[in-house]
Amino acid sequence: MRHLHLAFSTLALAATGLAAAIVAPAADAPAAPAAPAADAAPMSPDNPFAQPSSLPYQLPPFERIRDSDYRPAFIAGMAAQRAEVAVIAHDPQPPSFDNTIVALERSGRLLDRVSSTFFNLTTSNSDEEILRIQTEMAPKLAAHQDATHLDPALFARIESLYARRSQLHLDAESLQLLERYYTDFVRAGARLAPAEQQRLRDLNQQLSSLTAAFGQNVLKASREGAVVVRQASQLQGLSPSQIGVAADAAHARGLDGKCVIALQNTTTQPVLAQLKTRRLRERIYRASIARGIGGATDNTALIARMVKIRAERARLLGYPNHAAYVLADETAGNPQAVRDLLLQVAGAALPAARREAGAIQQIIDREAAASHRPGFTLQPWDWQYYSERVRKSKYDFDAAQVRPYFELDRVLRDGVFFAAQQLFGLTFKERHDLPVYRSDVRVFEVFDRDGAPLALFLADYFARDNKQGGAWMNNYVTQSKLLGLKPVVVNNLNIPKPPAGAPALLTFDEVTAMFHEFGHALHGMLSDVQYPLLSGTNVPPDFAEYPSQYNEMWAREPVVVAHFARHYQTGAPMPPALLERVLAAQKFDQGYLTSEYLEAALIDLAWHEIGPAQAPPADQVMDFEATALRHFGVAYAPVPPRYHSPYFLHIFSDADDYSAGYYAYLWSEVLARDTGQWLHAHGGLTRANGDYLRARILSRGRTEEPRQLFQDCYGSPPDVGPLLEYRGLTLPAK
Ligand SMILES: [Zn+2]
Repeated sequence: MRHLHLAFSTLALAATGLAAAIVAPAADAPAAPAAPAADAAPMSPDNPFAQPSSLPYQLPPFERIRDSDYRPAFIAGMAAQRAEVAVIAHDPQPPSFDNTIVALERSGRLLDRVSSTFFNLTTSNSDEEILRIQTEMAPKLAAHQDATHLDPALFARIESLYARRSQLHLDAESLQLLERYYTDFVRAGARLAPAEQQRLRDLNQQLSSLTAAFGQNVLKASREGAVVVRQASQLQGLSPSQIGVAADAAHARGLDGKCVIALQNTTTQPVLAQLKTRRLRERIYRASIARGIGGATDNTALIARMVKIRAERARLLGYPNHAAYVLADETAGNPQAVRDLLLQVAGAALPAARREAGAIQQIIDREAAASHRPGFTLQPWDWQYYSERVRKSKYDFDAAQVRPYFELDRVLRDGVFFAAQQLFGLTFKERHDLPVYRSDVRVFEVFDRDGAPLALFLADYFARDNKQGGAWMNNYVTQSKLLGLKPVVVNNLNIPKPPAGAPALLTFDEVTAMFHEFGHALHGMLSDVQYPLLSGTNVPPDFAEYPSQYNEMWAREPVVVAHFARHYQTGAPMPPALLERVLAAQKFDQGYLTSEYLEAALIDLAWHEIGPAQAPPADQVMDFEATALRHFGVAYAPVPPRYHSPYFLHIFSDADDYSAGYYAYLWSEVLARDTGQWLHAHGGLTRANGDYLRARILSRGRTEEPRQLFQDCYGSPPDVGPLLEYRGLTLPAK
């Protein structure tokens, strides 16, 4: 939830050539239109992507890459792969696993090199030109994918191999690869008749425009929805530096002397936790939920069309609805399994939220009585403000007390790396001799338990204005024995950069994020598979968050915390009483946080379980949402959904397609907490446990279907109990 892979789905699509997930291919017309002028420039032989990098681990030669290198490399890369695919599709030899499937795995190397670097930098170090290239290339890359997936000669070869798969004497991983290719092609429409394929391309084309328009509307609506405050004195509760930011924001809009509160993506706005003036809190909240409804940035009409098109596309591909289509290829398998999990957790989360609301209402009533003013009923815009008061009274510490014990470098070496060393025997050596794209980025060479070189790990931890928000992991080079590649992975965070010479002192949330993202990094670095398509983090989203969420647990493990939580000046360990309060506070407000997430996930599911005829008209979009929440029994006014549909980017925008997939974080977390409990029952932070997990999960990528990987590892299906316990939630007694 907190740590989104912004780059993940984009890269999975583009970087592995014929990669796995066709989520929502934005198909161009099959015949490419006349090339615009920019395409005319051929790739020069000294283009930095023209040859594999000669740097260790094929790290991209950042010092040589200019923005002007991308466009020609993309064009040449797509052309080269199209030519490779044509040779495979029209090979006079009868189809074999090697001349078809393995050949496809080997194709597209140039495109892979340019894509992986480019899509990393669009999120972490972009500029105007990179954004322009991205807009220009997205439909071309989608059309490139479609051209391959809808190539009848190529699919005929894959289909004939698939039909004979039991007679091909393939090893397990090769068999899985063949099945993945077949599945990916079928899911992208390869088995449809030509007229249906044309319809599919049309639908994809429409979706591509609609999702792009949705995202742009949200951006605009959020900007225009920012709340203007006449004077700084109304901002009681904010810190001087926050007020400074609000004044700067006003200045940037030509509103000197006033203040502007910008809106974040979520329904609830972080400033609501601090603002004392109730009327202002209400204004900000109402501005937040008004986004995308009516006016020039209306998204309700787009939603109505999108859900209808997705439903029709699912029918075309042989599924009852979009959710069934998406989930068939995820660990969850089907909508029923997702609904069951979400409602089971809701059974614990909603009652907890009501208890939390009770505690808040008590404070409100007490204060009203003390000040002889009329009381009021808790509203959504009050929750954060009063829960913050409850938190302080219950746990009695503030961030300033804690930060000196969480110094970034110590957390990294004595926490994150330490845990990986204990579990997997890995060691880390910083390299200062390799090029990076920003001086902030640090490079570590990672050595395996036997001392052999394993991977490069790039740590890009600081915020800057050309980097997307949030935290994520990505691959620069994906491990593959077939191609002789060792992994190069990166972790991105947005920790505010301290002034030169000052230490970076973290919050516990930031510490947790470092462990989380490093869990993804381990999944990439410990990958030990033959084929790139099945490598490392190329797994369904509802499994991808499993290694990361499990790795988070070490941030709270007593033996690990004791190792890294030391005062940056004195080296003294964190006082046990303070540490205890910090850890206990992690379970605070979980009724609210879990419920708002569940509501959003159920809205997502409701939209994508309808047939084409059930899509409501634009003016009933909000009713549809409200009805769904009531239907699922999760409508509770003080806890609004984390996102309302008109600004729910995860499921309606092109940037990050989690449609019918917002549940994935919770699904993964069930696996992660179950694993956590299992590890504790078996000795905790030990090499034996690490090696066990590595052999069965972390090294395996998607060489088997994730559900099976998990089952083989633990001998039973996942249990939701440990997740509830981790969040401090309990199911009501039956
Ligand atoms: Zn993650």
